[in-house]
Amino acid sequence: MSRFVQPVPAPDDPYAGDRLLRSWLERQLGPAGHAAAKGRLADLAADVAGPLRAAQADAEAHPPTLVRYDAWGARVDRIETSAGWRQQRAAAARHAVVALPYLPAARGTWGAATRVVQHALLHLYGPESATFSCPVAMADGAAALLSRPEVDAEVRDAWLPRLISTDPATAITSGQWMTEAQGGSDLARSTTIGRPAADGSWRLTGEKWFCSAADATMAVALARPEGAGRGSRVLAPFLVPRYAADSPLAGAVAPDAPAPGVTVHRLKDKLGTRALPTAEIGLHDAYALPLGDPAVPGLVRAMTLVVVTRLHNAAAAAGGMRRSLAYARAYAEARHVAGGPLSTNPLHRATLGALAVDAAGAFALAGHAFALLGRVEVGADPEAAAELRIVAPLAKLATGRLAVGSASEYLESFGGAGYVEDTGVPRLLRDAQVLPIWEGTTNVLAVDVLRAVAREDAGVPLLRRLDGAADLARPLSPVLADTLAALAGELRADLAAVAADPGAVAVVAGARGLALRMAYALTAALLVEQAAWGDEQAEVAAVLWARRWLRHEEIAADAHHHLDLLG
Ligand SMILES: Cc1cc2nc3c(=O)[nH]c(=O)nc-3n(C[C@H](O)[C@H](O)[C@H](O)COP(=O)(O)OP(=O)(O)OC[C@H]3O[C@@H](n4cnc5c(N)ncnc54)[C@H](O)[C@@H]3O)c2cc1C
Repeated sequence: MSRFVQPVPAPDDPYAGDRLLRSWLERQLGPAGHAAAKGRLADLAADVAGPLRAAQADAEAHPPTLVRYDAWGARVDRIETSAGWRQQRAAAARHAVVALPYLPAARGTWGAATRVVQHALLHLYGPESATFSCPVAMADGAAALLSRPEVDAEVRDAWLPRLISTDPATAITSGQWMTEAQGGSDLARSTTIGRPAADGSWRLTGEKWFCSAADATMAVALARPEGAGRGSRVLAPFLVPRYAADSPLAGAVAPDAPAPGVTVHRLKDKLGTRALPTAEIGLHDAYALPLGDPAVPGLVRAMTLVVVTRLHNAAAAAGGMRRSLAYARAYAEARHVAGGPLSTNPLHRATLGALAVDAAGAFALAGHAFALLGRVEVGADPEAAAELRIVAPLAKLATGRLAVGSASEYLESFGGAGYVEDTGVPRLLRDAQVLPIWEGTTNVLAVDVLRAVAREDAGVPLLRRLDGAADLARPLSPVLADTLAALAGELRADLAAVAADPGAVAVVAGARGLALRMAYALTAALLVEQAAWGDEQAEVAAVLWARRWLRHEEIAADAHHHLDLLG
């Protein structure tokens, strides 16, 4: 008897096979804008389905290591990474995954929508990048921070072109050194101190507890300028060169040695993101350049970076969900159960159909956040800025939770193979779990939403969008329109209660539930907008999303029926 060997699942081309991505781009960019992006997106998709898939496998199989001493006992603190990781780095540069929104030619073609195209690149690149999407996010955040007018032009000119280079030989990425052992969410507990030097540079001393992309060429570190007082507002962002080559204090040290005063204590042994080196790093009088005047409270400057990385987090969540769906559908085609292909089994189709609805919702939420960011950066649109204030935390928190729940289902959809490491499937769950943790846990973001509502009336743009979507939904589905209108009414009352007493115990305790309801309502509105433009898939997704997340109904029969359209 011959031994059964399961055919390897072969997912669709990530760009050609993603109907929602293509129709979203058609609407956001217009036919000419989408046509201008197609070559770029098809090239990246081909790379992902080919060499980058292999590079991810290599990077996962060969996690980074820290070499502390050389053969003769000299301290070297060298982080060694795999060939696959370096291939991912080169591809990110070559495909302009970070650079695109900063390139004048791209802005000339797509204007404010350049961020929409970048989101499409991230959607394709991220899921099989072995989490190189993390250094990509931080490099983009650092580039956005360096682009602020308060940053010294000399510092910007020295570092920004490297962050946004599309030449793998010169492109660099950035880390972000914020979290300390005594507090990640509570930055007020930060103890890293910055002291000015005579030449205008600064020296940082302290301990950073979670430093991802610890192999990156630079980092943005938060430090408390000496004498600045307590609290988090006064913390200032500094650029720290990671290697001797960029530190004027280095003298004759080898250029790839750590910059003087930068010590890599150890690499974290993490649940997931295994190819990504995350280190504990000590700073002792490390050379640093201020990003803006450290005498002016700097947390608000650092938030430029954090907003960008939160959006990348949402893109990673949504992209991962969509790619997992593609793999699960490919597996269902190849696997047989109960006398037929799994892909024709009504119960399995219903399970995947519900996941497809979630993937569509997460995509719309992340995509909208990028569209808003583009309008803020190109054109300084005040309405977009007001909406982004609430959409950034909502998109990050809702997509992070959806990604974890979905990843668990995706593993199950592969049966036992989903639990076996060399299928590559368990990684989906491990890597999803970081999404609700870093750059603000779900609860920390929910508290941020309360703050935005109470201090900046940030609920207003959300409610306006819901009202508009209720009108748009009327010709598509009166039930959906009524659901949105009713929810807008409820949220109006809830947000008024928040504004009246944001510190009330009931308000704080209910913050997560409120934020999720806001995010789910916003997602429904975004899908309705896409549907009203003429996208049939979005119409089905909007109706099913609203039933699933706003009315908490069972959608199995319809999810089964519409799987082919949704997926
Ligand atoms: C894989 C990975 C990579 C990371 N990379 C980086 C990096 O590159 N740079 C960096 O700076 N950091 C990084 N981090 C750290 C990450 O940002 C922090 O772990 C995160 O912000 C949470 O901070 P904490 O660990 O101190 O947890 P805590 O802040 O102690 O949180 C513990 C619990 O308290 C809750 N909590 C905290 N504050 C509140 C509040 N106000 N209201 C209600 N609940 C609250 C949280 O939700 C959480 O459940 C990384 C983390 C991981 C897992």
